[in-house]
Amino acid sequence: MGCILNQTHFLNARLADGTVADLTVEGGRFSAVAPAANTTPPTDGAVDLAGKLVLPAFVEGHIHLDTSFYGDAWRPHIPCTDGFDVRERVAFQMRNLEQAAPMAERAKNQLELCIGHGSLAMRSHVMVDAAVGLKHVETILAVREKYRDLIDIQLVAFPQSGILSSPGTAELLDEALKLGCDLIGGLDPASFDRDVKAHLDVVFGLAEKRGAGIDIHLHDRGTLGLFEIEEIVARTTASGMPGKVAVSHAYALGDISAEALARVGERIAAAGIAIMTNAPGDHVFPPVAALRKAGVTVFAGSDNIRDSWWPYGDGDMLNRANMIGYRSGFYEDWELEAAYDVVSHAGAKALGLEGYGIAVGAKADFVALRAEHIPEAVVAVPKDRKVYRAGREVARGGKVLA
Ligand SMILES: [Zn+2]
Repeated sequence: MGCILNQTHFLNARLADGTVADLTVEGGRFSAVAPAANTTPPTDGAVDLAGKLVLPAFVEGHIHLDTSFYGDAWRPHIPCTDGFDVRERVAFQMRNLEQAAPMAERAKNQLELCIGHGSLAMRSHVMVDAAVGLKHVETILAVREKYRDLIDIQLVAFPQSGILSSPGTAELLDEALKLGCDLIGGLDPASFDRDVKAHLDVVFGLAEKRGAGIDIHLHDRGTLGLFEIEEIVARTTASGMPGKVAVSHAYALGDISAEALARVGERIAAAGIAIMTNAPGDHVFPPVAALRKAGVTVFAGSDNIRDSWWPYGDGDMLNRANMIGYRSGFYEDWELEAAYDVVSHAGAKALGLEGYGIAVGAKADFVALRAEHIPEAVVAVPKDRKVYRAGREVARGGKVLA
């Protein structure tokens, strides 16, 4: 047969637009996407997807690989004694972590959970503070290396105990970026460190110094949170970092009037800042539809999976799209498609991923599942999926293949 190129053919793939196509993968990327030829019997060695919906692999945009207990002993949740208090939760987390299985093992459990459901790109925050130093970062960097053939992972050096509140953290964050973290994090500059300017000076200063992106945890609500978002907008524009900054949670955006939201939404979009939400159960959260309408990139993540912050989480970004749609009051097909966009294409944009999608030239990282179309996939959340990385099947029915 002469020289056979290293090609894989996938037949009868249902695309998002409803058409059925044959896909060719070469060197890990799609080299052809053509109308299905309905070859019977299928070409030798070809994979018949039999009309399954093919979606680009999901984007897990916010997770904590270092602190989950998934696959470890169950850790009962306790509420804060007086409303939500980050310091109290971190103290509970540290007590829990002392008795937990080794971090690398727990991170691996969580990664396989996510890959099994079809996420092949991820952004994980990793705790850095004066108490744990760089231990978490070093462990998760090693885990990332082990899984690099299966999933692309961006790491955020995350000051879980504040920056000013935990002396020495600024230097540790710098070191974490040097070691291989891709982004610098932040945490409620006002309510936690009580100094917005000094906190953001460190975050933006280190980002510029190391050419890193930024992803800030911002739980502060109401006008306080809004003020912080405006500060982040101003600094992002001033430092020429559009497309490299994200604000995670941004609860304040769910707390303000429609007029105020329209104003700030436009400014967030113009600054190229992405907003991450996990559609949390008991919080106000950013209005996804209004922000998208204003041109803001809204992406999503599981955030905490079975850790000291809450017992929920299943690492399934399609289920996350379902939650986002449910909590947002999305009913029409175009709205369900928007919920899906948040966990896929918008996530890829927020993370700055290259070659995302089902298209010639894109990476052949995809999920095949049984659904008529995207709206049905978002409401039905079919669990029986096949996950392909660079055109190679890596997970089936929720399990990573050996
Ligand atoms: Zn988080």
